[in-house]
Amino acid sequence: MNFNHCESLYWVFTQLCNDKCDHCYNLSGPQGDRISEEECLAIIDNMPDRIDRLILSGGEPLADRKLLYAILDRIQEKYGVNTQVMLQTNGDLLNGEILDTLLQKGVTRFDIASIDRYHKHAGARLMDLAELFESRGVNGDDKDPLINKENYLVKAPQASWGYWGATEDMWLGGNWARGRAMEKNIWKRDANHNFCKLLSGGIGFLTGAEGIPQEISIQLWRINPCCPGTYKAMGDARKEQVATVLERVASSAVFQKINEGDPLGMGESVGISREFASARNEELQNVCRWCDEFFREYFDLETLQSKFQLPS
Ligand code: SF4
Ligand code: SF4
Repeated sequence: MNFNHCESLYWVFTQLCNDKCDHCYNLSGPQGDRISEEECLAIIDNMPDRIDRLILSGGEPLADRKLLYAILDRIQEKYGVNTQVMLQTNGDLLNGEILDTLLQKGVTRFDIASIDRYHKHAGARLMDLAELFESRGVNGDDKDPLINKENYLVKAPQASWGYWGATEDMWLGGNWARGRAMEKNIWKRDANHNFCKLLSGGIGFLTGAEGIPQEISIQLWRINPCCPGTYKAMGDARKEQVATVLERVASSAVFQKINEGDPLGMGESVGISREFASARNEELQNVCRWCDEFFREYFDLETLQSKFQLPS
């Protein structure tokens, strides 16, 4: 497997945000965590040589604009036109001047991720944004952000935009059991809902899966197999090549199960049965919470070794 080629990489480079939504999975807000420009540039240096699609997200990328522009410049330098650069934004701060700069700096896809009741404007800016995009010739025909990889691997002749939000029909599987959604107690409680098997879950993070690109996420600097993020990161993108980290975890049967979107089976190789995992998942009411418990109690993500001894 060549981990120096990534089909899709999702990067939260800032948790600074002009909004502070109740469902926010990474605790973004006006006081959200940030990393320095130097750290961001080191992370880009450590990214794979080839990335088909790079999604820049937050936080609100436009709230940390100086950093965003520096990142876009370095990405253009490293990848040129061979990477589709997507921006995931709440759209609140977008205006004509900023849009022109973003287009000039190589953004080819805009996803407005705020069309729901949790966000400040609750979707009310959608028509203004549609006009703004139209005025710059940004194509709005493909609204669906859950893009088939066929559609992003083929370089679009023209920039495009779409939108989504945390609604039953648009959100990826309910509010994640993370961050402020946990604090506010509005995370999805459903033991039968296997988020890991959906786009943005762990499925296919090493190999891709049917209809799902091979995608990893970097939360600030934490390299994760999925967007919600595992209990601890697989590695630190400021210090290690992403390809090296993926190579390391690819040899672990635990991570191979995550790659299959099967977190209930991930303990089998170290003596944690599927029956036990299922019972804990029923109690915890969310498969990502089971995953947290597994990595906290039974398996060390750093050494890739089990944390306990089976009775002999
Ligand atoms: S959900 Fe989006 S807009 Fe809301 S606080 Fe989080 S990053 Fe900001
Ligand atoms: S179960 Fe674990 S690996 Fe899968 S999506 Fe949840 S946190 Fe990520």
